[in-house]
Amino acid sequence: MFQADERLISLIFEYCRDRLMLDPVPLDHAGDKATLDRALEGVINDRGSDPTEVLRVFSDSVATAVVSCDSPRFLAFIPAAPTKASLLFDMVVSCSSLQGSSWLEAAGAVAAENQVLRVIADAAGLPPGAGGCFVSGGSAGNLSALMVAREVGRHLAADQPARLRIAVSDQAHSSIGKALHVIDVDALIVPTRDHRLTGTALEAALRSDPDPSDVIGVVATGGTTNAGIVDDLDGVSRVAAERGLWFHVDGAYGGAALFAPSARHRFEGIQRADSLVVDPHKWLFAPFDCASLIYRNPSLARAVHTQDASYLDVIHTDGPEAWNPSDYAYHLTRRARGLAIWFSLAVHGTDAYRDAVEAGLAIARAAAEVIASRDGLTLLRPPELSVVLFRRDGWEAADYDSWSRRLLRDQVGFVTPTKWEGETVARLAFLHPETTIEIVEEILDTMV
Ligand SMILES: *Cc1c(COP(=O)(O)O)cnc(C)c1O
Repeated sequence: MFQADERLISLIFEYCRDRLMLDPVPLDHAGDKATLDRALEGVINDRGSDPTEVLRVFSDSVATAVVSCDSPRFLAFIPAAPTKASLLFDMVVSCSSLQGSSWLEAAGAVAAENQVLRVIADAAGLPPGAGGCFVSGGSAGNLSALMVAREVGRHLAADQPARLRIAVSDQAHSSIGKALHVIDVDALIVPTRDHRLTGTALEAALRSDPDPSDVIGVVATGGTTNAGIVDDLDGVSRVAAERGLWFHVDGAYGGAALFAPSARHRFEGIQRADSLVVDPHKWLFAPFDCASLIYRNPSLARAVHTQDASYLDVIHTDGPEAWNPSDYAYHLTRRARGLAIWFSLAVHGTDAYRDAVEAGLAIARAAAEVIASRDGLTLLRPPELSVVLFRRDGWEAADYDSWSRRLLRDQVGFVTPTKWEGETVARLAFLHPETTIEIVEEILDTMV
């Protein structure tokens, strides 16, 4: 098992080469349990199986039952479009077993990852001292950041309230509610007008609250997942500063638009974030799983996340330049998951990333125009980022569902409905630079 086997290496490299050369990748299908069970039956046994045979099970039955989120026809949820360079370099990370937990073990990997965090921090306008680490996803990033918010808030709260609260809008991502649940902090739900958390709405909610002294932070969203709406980060940041609240920005999906000159103005105020999450595995073209978590003042995060254990003392004796990613989130061992985007950014340059993010914005605007011009379709709002919500006039939830299934069956697209103001509607999420207006029109043509 531990010897390099030429045949196995060639087999897998050949598969990877073929997958990388697919242009475009097939959309593929959702799975069926009985079929999968049949295909997988007996694959793991006590004697092992011929790798060619196992790879065949994988390519014929397993891989085809995973919808390719890197297809330009994947427009559901949040798609993915990892660059070829990042995919290839992820293989390097795997083949080298590169971990990135501590400076002592992995200074090189950590230094390279930190270059990428710096690029993102610069795009946000965070100060030179800002820093953090890469985590598995926006959910892990939000949880880790809010753990720090809670500890800092608890420390600062004058009269030590029994329970703490963090202000969130009714549009915040579901992972924020989960994180608050884990850290046992209550939500002060701020109602929004037009789905956008504003400084005015936050201030009004705090004013009308009988005792807001237990509110220690606020979460704003830099691009809601459902509709791509960027909160009033400027207004929220000012209220947060006046009231001494921790200001967390969840830019898991939309934060990538910091790199797009045509959308950058929407993020004014993000430079005052105490913590920020941006997922490169979404709109910064990195493979799964990769989310960046950045703190304005990393020492606050260190005080919360550093793990104390006798066997770990040695990683904390390396001097002030030592940067331990394990000190900045709820994790210890971690893959050097930031290296894939590091390599790709270095190879292609930030201009190429700017252009690729702009391409996602441009296709969303073009799609919105086509929708607005078609009889029988109603555009629900002009897209701020790259999500387009619209109605097929006269359709009910069941119509959208069967349409969505038909689209995938026919391999035309993967599009799932969503809820908007209580109504089931269609939602297109763009970010793949190779999604064309022809693909969009082909999808819209199926809605007659
Ligand atoms: C996707 C998303 C998350 C969760 O990120 P994961 O990487 O899926 O864990 C959180 N917030 C927003 C706004 C998102 O779009």
